[in-house]
Amino acid sequence: MKHKVLIVEDEKSIVDILRFNLNREGFETIEAYDGATGLVLATTENPDLILLDLMLPEMDGFEVCRSLREKGSNTPILIITAREEEKDKVFGLDLGADDYITKPFSVRELLARVKANIRRVNGVTVSDAVQADDTNHARISIDKNSFGVKKDGKSLELTQREYELMQLLIENAGKVYTRQEIMEHVWNYEGYIGDVRGVDVTVRRLREKIEDDPAKPAFLMTRRGMGYYFSI
Ligand code: CA
Repeated sequence: MKHKVLIVEDEKSIVDILRFNLNREGFETIEAYDGATGLVLATTENPDLILLDLMLPEMDGFEVCRSLREKGSNTPILIITAREEEKDKVFGLDLGADDYITKPFSVRELLARVKANIRRVNGVTVSDAVQADDTNHARISIDKNSFGVKKDGKSLELTQREYELMQLLIENAGKVYTRQEIMEHVWNYEGYIGDVRGVDVTVRRLREKIEDDPAKPAFLMTRRGMGYYFSI
């Protein structure tokens, strides 16, 4: 399932950068170059997240944000603001924005914020089919709200990276991911071709935490010569 991001920004070069990187990460994007259009698309297109510039023609970002919240929309809004506009950030958050990012931003930081904010709102439903299944999956569950993982109802202490790896594998249970694919998804390294042993280390640590017997994994499985997967 692709998440849809609405970009409301009047600087075309920034829209181009955002679109390119979001599409590459698997997001669908729609664009508005002024506030009024942004407001319309925010209500008609039902995006999963809105990237909202503040200084916009027709209707500024504050107004868009305020209108959306007044209409009862709870779509996450990530404000894009220039570095010097400190008071704008505060004002934007007061109006109901969820987060902000300052220009010039790093693409990696932006993607991390987008993902975190979508995750926060979506809650988790480790796919319903998986939860209904009375096998391994019933024992391990993810809570996207708290970024937590539980085994047999007990919370596990996971690092952010361990959590993200668990989320990737559980949501795609049965699918084998190569170390390089895991690097790209969890470490956000695009086209990573270097040292992927970090993945093995993380898997080993995770097994210590989630497996009954880490030496004989039943959840986090190795497909020899291929990679890792979460057993179905
Ligand atoms: Ca602008």
